[in-house]
Amino acid sequence: MPGNPHFPATAPTAGLSWTGADELGRRALLAEILAQVSREALDADGLEQTLQCIVDCLVRQLPVQIASILLLDEAGDCFVGEVWAGDLLLAPVAPGAWPVTKGASGRCARTGAAQLIEDTDNDPDYLPGHPNVRSEYLVPIRHRRRLLGVLNLESIERDFFTAPVRATFDAVATQIAGAIHLASVVRDLEAANQRLRELSLVDGLTGAANRRAFDLNLHETWARAAAAGLPLALLLLDADWFKLLNDNEGHPHGDDCLRTLAQICRDTVRTRDRQVARYGGEELAVLLPATGLAEAARIAEAVRLRVVERRMPHRASPLMPFVTVSIGVSATRPRPDRDATALVAAADRALYAAKRGGRNRIERRRCR
Ligand code: GH3
Ligand code: MG
Ligand code: MG
Repeated sequence: MPGNPHFPATAPTAGLSWTGADELGRRALLAEILAQVSREALDADGLEQTLQCIVDCLVRQLPVQIASILLLDEAGDCFVGEVWAGDLLLAPVAPGAWPVTKGASGRCARTGAAQLIEDTDNDPDYLPGHPNVRSEYLVPIRHRRRLLGVLNLESIERDFFTAPVRATFDAVATQIAGAIHLASVVRDLEAANQRLRELSLVDGLTGAANRRAFDLNLHETWARAAAAGLPLALLLLDADWFKLLNDNEGHPHGDDCLRTLAQICRDTVRTRDRQVARYGGEELAVLLPATGLAEAARIAEAVRLRVVERRMPHRASPLMPFVTVSIGVSATRPRPDRDATALVAAADRALYAAKRGGRNRIERRRCR
């Protein structure tokens, strides 16, 4: 068994041995083990490490040949994982491979009650883990009313599982349940935080990056491009006559069109490092790393054409009865001593020129 860094050899129980101790000494040892398990449940880095430390501790200090913790799936139908210590000749549980219909641990899970097997030779459900094992004790691991798994202990001594020993293992199972519950709370919290982080950077209507994400990314991408000596291009896209569209086709249709415009941008740029963002009301921005002005203009023209081809109804548009867009294109070679303001300003000027030039067109401006 590998050394356990969490229970140093100089633990207070190091002088106490189960075999040599009298009744009082044994009770002291059980109390100390329980204290160690409690400390461990609060202290370890992750659930698996916590559980491993607990079974290691039990096997090292007690006449327990095998200690294992079997974890149940959500439905409680199958053991899906096992952490064990000791001298196990049977292969440990393969995930999903052990239904609760099998073995003494299955019986414990099915009945939800602790199982004391005083003579393993005469128990129909006992699956031998080691030929020397004589007795077994199985405790349900339960948090509130939910069964999470089973704590399994196998001893070479037939009469090892006395009432005080069983009471200690019952308490250990409670500690394990607390540790499992705590780990799931932490996991849920981390997932929720991750989701919140993502949501805080995404525009709810279009699914594109929001303005905050764009500003952050622009800053970082600028610095990276400056360091690498690579060009950086920006498209600013603005839907034409969008107010008229809302007024005549209704706001929900306007929303649909915005979603479609963002999707067309994503489909056109395709790679992940090219960010599509909702820049303002009906304006989108596309940031194009390692892209020069000519290539950016080609991409902008492809977007413009796809929008026309999509034929989104806009019967009030003075241009054609479909949604069109104007796009301003700018590009530069970022320098570390300047920021991205000039790139955005150039794209904005280009967009303004596209509007003035009649809309449904792209214009480009080099940023100096
Ligand atoms: P131009 O061709 O000059 O861009 O004309 P325009 O009408 O598109 O420009 P303007 O800036 O006057 O109007 C933009 C409109 O975009 C106003 C607003 O109602 C609409 N808009 C902004 N955000 C949303 C949105 O989330 N959903 C919908 N449906 N419309 C929006
Ligand atoms: Mg507009
Ligand atoms: Mg606008």
